[in-house]
Formats: sequence, C-alpha cells, structure tokens
Amino acid sequence: MNLAHKLKDPVFKTISEVAHNEGLETYVVGGYVRDILLKRPSKDIDFVCVGSGIELAKAVKKSLGGQYPLSVFKNFGTAMIKTDDLELEFVGARKESYQRDSRKPIVENGTLEDDQNRRDFAINAMAISLNKDSYGELVDPFGGVEDLKEKLIKTPLDPKTTFSDDPLRMMRAIRFASQLKFDIDADTFQGIIDMKDRIKIISQERIIVELNKIILSDEPSYGFKLLFYCGLLKEVFPELVALQGVDSIEDKSHKDNFYHTLQVLDNISQNTDSLWLRWAAIMHDIAKPATKRFNKKVGWTFHGHEDKGARMTPGIFRRLKLPMGESMRYVQKLVKLHLRPIALVKDEITDSAVRRLLFEAGDDIDDLMMLCRADITSKNNNKVKRYLQNFDKVESRMVAVEEKDKVRNFQPVITGQMIMSTFGLKPGKTIGDIKEALKEAVLEGKIRNEFDQAHEYMLELGREHGLNVVKPLR
Ligand code: ATP
Ligand code: MG
Repeated sequence: MNLAHKLKDPVFKTISEVAHNEGLETYVVGGYVRDILLKRPSKDIDFVCVGSGIELAKAVKKSLGGQYPLSVFKNFGTAMIKTDDLELEFVGARKESYQRDSRKPIVENGTLEDDQNRRDFAINAMAISLNKDSYGELVDPFGGVEDLKEKLIKTPLDPKTTFSDDPLRMMRAIRFASQLKFDIDADTFQGIIDMKDRIKIISQERIIVELNKIILSDEPSYGFKLLFYCGLLKEVFPELVALQGVDSIEDKSHKDNFYHTLQVLDNISQNTDSLWLRWAAIMHDIAKPATKRFNKKVGWTFHGHEDKGARMTPGIFRRLKLPMGESMRYVQKLVKLHLRPIALVKDEITDSAVRRLLFEAGDDIDDLMMLCRADITSKNNNKVKRYLQNFDKVESRMVAVEEKDKVRNFQPVITGQMIMSTFGLKPGKTIGDIKEALKEAVLEGKIRNEFDQAHEYMLELGREHGLNVVKPLR
C-alpha cells in the first residue's frame, strides 16, 4: 500500500530530502500512521530513523530555515521540533529488552523491524517509508491495517510478554479501545487478565493519564467496563468496584450502583467534555457502600452518602494523583450538593431553599443541574420525563430568585470593617457572628441584600449583643 498522497504537509518531502542527504533510512511511525488510516487528523508526528534521531532532527531544523525551536532529550535519544502547527518528534530505531521489576528497558540501537517489535499494538506499529526508492510505502509487519478494518486492539507479539514488559500497555489497550470504539482481541484481553497485578510497577502519574483519556472518550462506560472485567479497575480504583453488586433482603433490592454510575457518566458525557464534571459523575455515589443500611420499613438507604462522598474526595484524588486544588474542590462541591435539587423537587419549593442552593453552588449551579439530570437513569420513560420536567421547574424558579436576590455570587453589603467601625470593635468573634446573622437573614428572606435593610438589621443585631453605636455609618 502506498500512502504518499496522504503525506500532504510539505514537511514530509523536506525530511525525506534531509534523510537522503544524511544517508539515514527514515520512516513516519506509530500513532500518526494509524490516524492517517483512521482519517483522524493529528498534529504529533513521530519519525524513526536507523541511526541518530538527534542528528536527523538537527539537520531538519537547518533545512527548515532554523526558525523553529529544537529540543533535545539526550537521555532518551529523542529530539523535537515545534513548527507553527506540528510537533515533529525524532528518534533512532531501537531494540528493547526488559527486566522483570522495571518498565525501564535496556535499549540498544536497532533496525526498523526491531523498533516495530517493541511497539504496543499492531495498529500502533505501522510505518511509512520516507526513503527515496520507496517513498510512501506502508510497512505493516503485524497486520495493523487488517486490525483497523476489524476494529481490533492486538499486541504484535505474545500479549503476556508485551504486558509484562511494560504493564502500562494494559491501560493503553483499554484507553485505545475506548477512544476508538474498538474491541480488544481475545488473547490480548486474556493477557491483561493474567498480567493485571503487574500494573503495580507503573507510576500513578502515568496510570491517571490513561484513565483520564478513558474518561474523556465518547462513551467512557465502555472503557470502565473493560477495566472492570479484566480486573484492572480493582487495582487502580477499588472504591468504584465497591459500588458493584446488588443486595436483597426480604425481596427488597437496591440498584447496582456501579452500572448506575457508569450510566450517569455516559449521560453527562453527551453534554460536556469537561474532565472534572465527568469526574463529579464518577464520584457522586462513591460513598454508597460506606453508608448503606437496611431498614425493615423503607428498605435500603444510603443516608449521608453525599457528605461522606465529599469527605472521601480529597483522599481519592490524592491517591490517584489528581490535582488537589480547585478541580478537587469543584468535584467535592458537586458530590456534596448532588441531592439538593432533588430535595427541592420533593419538598414544596421555597424561595429560601432556592436561595441557599444558589448561594452554596455559586457559579457551579448549571453544572450541578447537569449532573442531576444525568443522574436520572430510570428505565421508565414516563418517570424520566416527569423528573426532567421537575428540574425544569426548579431551574425557572432559580432564575426568578436569582434575578430578585442575586445570591449566586453573594457579596454582603455590610462588611466586617463597617461593623467594627460602627460599634468600635476590635477583630473578634462578634464580628463573625453578626456577619453570619446578616447572611442568614438574606438567605432566609428576612431582609434584602441591599444597604438600607442590611444596615437597619445590623443595628438591631448590635442592640441584641449589647453594643453601642460609636460611629454611625451615616
Ligand atoms: P495518542 O497520541 O493519541 O495518545 P499515540 O499512538 O500517538 O496516541 P503515544 O503515546 O503518542 O500514542 O505514542 C506514540 C507511539 O509510540 C505509539 O503509537 C506506539 O507505537 C509507541 N508507544 C507509546 N507508548 C508505548 C508503550 N508503552 N509501549 C510500546 N509502544 C509505545
Ligand atoms: Mg501521539
């Protein structure tokens, strides 16, 4: 198969020229070749040459006029040139052999064939020649083209060896299956089952990169189910596995919270590409196993799973090596609040309840509502319709209340400074108490959040605290 016509960017011809002049056998290799055949545009291009990738990169830089930055990674024997819209990565063909306790191989210089042998999957092991006599020819030793047709992830060599050598490849197999909507070849999948324990030698930083790519695929439940069936999920995210299963006592059962969570994740993924909102879906019921109780009258309950789940979030994020700052707090907040809109629907909706929710959710209220809608996984279409209509009602109430009271980004009109100067107070607990009481009064609807009413109420609170006005605000 000749793919010269697919190498549209002039950079390929340039590199071919340079490689010829340097006397280096050179190929485009890996993901870029796969993506050409899948018609997925991509901007990262890997070049492999039989010889020094760094020398080739230096010569290419020169021939491109020298204006693009070249980074050399001597330890890895690789070099990268960033052009206006492409990342060109150069590496010398290598042969790798592995030891048992590390994913760091012993690396030697090798041929193109050696280099293809060390790649993870047949679809990732294809190369396109940039050599003059065979420009554009596809080199596909393991039937990658066939696998693409059959939508199959398959290791080029024995799966067990491939996965034992570098266990990260197990995560990659599932990640590619999930991104590309491919099957995993049966022997390859069996290899993952057999080698799943070896994931322990992989750093969490690398695992989470793959897990996040699974989460960002169109239908992440597929990747999670593969992770679950092969046993990897238990290794990397046991809290999620703990959600699986149905208990029954006296004919009373609860739903399987693992499959429910995956459904919620798929639902939300149809509406958002935000990694953290998708993480909120994954985490929303995470504390159900820990809070599960059986009660003769009402059956199964999970009281407080939203609070407990919010408390579990930092620990899980820390262990998974997810960022601990704003993103974690955002997920934590959505987990904590995920039942509140439903509670609003069940009780008669009061303005003060709406105000409280708006106040607590702040700018994340729309994301919270999206999560709540995704959380409806009933098979009964009438029910689904009714629940969604209820949320519509809640939302229009929110719009009305927010218009009136502006609590979504609540800023008190009376500051601590004002309280201190009015009553001649030093910083201390009383100030905090008065501020809190003012906020409560606004949320409860006792007063509006505007100066006259809040000022009046502050004076009243001062009298209750036995304070004298030493310097009126006006
Ligand atoms: P994407 O960039 O979309 O994640 P990709 O296939 O380009 O997909 P990279 O991680 O960029 O993936 O790797 C580039 C190529 O390097 C792969 O196509 C594969 O040939 C090879 N490769 C990457 N990681 C491994 C690994 N752990 N084991 C074997 N080969 C690998
Ligand atoms: Mg890539």
